[in-house]
Amino acid sequence: MQFERISHPAPVPGKTRAEAIANPGFGTLFTDHMVTIDWSEDKEWHNAQLAPRGPLTLDPAASVLHYAQEIFEGLKAYRLEDGTMALFRPRENAARFNRSADRLAMPNLPEDAFVAALEALVDADKDWFPTVEGGSLYLRPFMIATEAFLGVRPAKEYKFILIASPAGNYFKSGAPAVSIWVSDYTRAAPGGTGAAKCGGNYAASLVPTREAFDRGHDQVLFLDAAEHRYIEELGGMNLFFVFDDGRILTPPLTGTILPGITRDSIIDLAREEGLDVVEEMYTLDQWREDAASGKLLETFACGTAAVVTPVGKVAGHDGEFTIGSGGPGQLTSKLREKLTGIQRGTAEDTRGWVM
Ligand code: PMP
Repeated sequence: MQFERISHPAPVPGKTRAEAIANPGFGTLFTDHMVTIDWSEDKEWHNAQLAPRGPLTLDPAASVLHYAQEIFEGLKAYRLEDGTMALFRPRENAARFNRSADRLAMPNLPEDAFVAALEALVDADKDWFPTVEGGSLYLRPFMIATEAFLGVRPAKEYKFILIASPAGNYFKSGAPAVSIWVSDYTRAAPGGTGAAKCGGNYAASLVPTREAFDRGHDQVLFLDAAEHRYIEELGGMNLFFVFDDGRILTPPLTGTILPGITRDSIIDLAREEGLDVVEEMYTLDQWREDAASGKLLETFACGTAAVVTPVGKVAGHDGEFTIGSGGPGQLTSKLREKLTGIQRGTAEDTRGWVM
């Protein structure tokens, strides 16, 4: 990899860097550098660079702009108590990136190159680590089809890019429990791209997400495409349901939901707590009934950005209901603490999850 580092940090409009990282919000502030790696049919991966972050030059016929041949990942770098920067299970993101690439007919990036890019950028931009409580450096690796060609077929040229964004809390309200809107729209159908992390999935979720926001909710919930009865996932998070008999349920990976790395970690941590974790289909009607009878104690959402967040209220076209007391439940809080403890190095990492 070639390195070209910025000698003066890029200015943040109207603020010093110290002011910006004290209150970074989510997704609007970016660091000084980016990594880019090119791919072409004859040279495969080449031209790896860590360089000052800046605008891209793309041919207006680049396939990504027309047919959305794009995939991405999202993970966080944390700062441990001794000042070391840490990544959480980055090889899982590398592996999922390549599964997404397979589904979108894009080339695989070797896992070592993916991880090396993360390490290089975190090292170059660690001074952007936010000073706010619970802050992290959010890392966004992505790949786009850059070939100038308007026919519909997999492109022959791609660019991998990695950018970083100092991040505070994902939910604006910093709400102790979030409110979700059950959408009538479908996110992903069997045989589609639901299990891939591709931009197109998110483009299709914007109208339902706007509907959720306009109605005062924090996230949108998608049901299955075929019967519109089974709970799948939120716009950017997986779901878990906690019952009074020691069971904890999460929808199975049927190909229409994103296999979350937080989801996978929570399954492991919950089993360690002695809970009976089941991956089973669960209907919206059953959820409402279990919440009313008290059989269902807690529901939480999980993902890199939102970590572990309790769901307090659920609303849809046919009414709304509350989960438990509407606030954070005991198990939700415990699992959140366990996970963030490992990620931030205050709890022992017995699984080798932290790099
Ligand atoms: N589902 C969707 C649709 C997502 O966008 C995300 C965020 N990547 C997740 C679930 C959670 O995945 P992870 O735990 O790997 O962040």
